[in-house]
Amino acid sequence: MTLRQRIGQGIDFHRFEEGRELWLGGIHIQSSKGCVAHSDGDVLIHAVCDALLGAAGLRDIGFYFPDSSDEFKGIDSKILLRRTVDIISEKGFRIVNIDSTVCLESPKIGPYIESMRKILSETAGIDADSFTVKATTTEKMGFTGRGEGIVAMAVCLVSEKMSDNI
Ligand SMILES: [Zn+2]
Repeated sequence: MTLRQRIGQGIDFHRFEEGRELWLGGIHIQSSKGCVAHSDGDVLIHAVCDALLGAAGLRDIGFYFPDSSDEFKGIDSKILLRRTVDIISEKGFRIVNIDSTVCLESPKIGPYIESMRKILSETAGIDADSFTVKATTTEKMGFTGRGEGIVAMAVCLVSEKMSDNI
């Protein structure tokens, strides 16, 4: 029996503002500025949620967790990731792997990558090996290069779950 596999991609952008907390990959990062957002502004998790929803043939993160709703004001994005995993699970899919990239000039997030992988993989219910996080800069070009904002991209593979009666 062949289980159907599907790919998904997600991308998210947030503007930086001085004096805000920076939440990225499920953890708090030391930074003089953080993301302007309705939630905690975790751009990496938002890109991952969109990739998962897309792979399952569903709508985007804003459809399920609208920024007009008080329910999601300041919410920990790990909760959104957990709920997204539940949504795609109800549709009959499980995660095979997730690969992601964060693009920002500063702060340098290399020292945080392994902690992000650990907490994100636990939140998504997969092995740390199956959840990769990479970081890059735009060589000081553009809005990320000027430190005005941050971008994250994610790709995921999901597979149909084996039905329970097999
Ligand atoms: Zn976002």
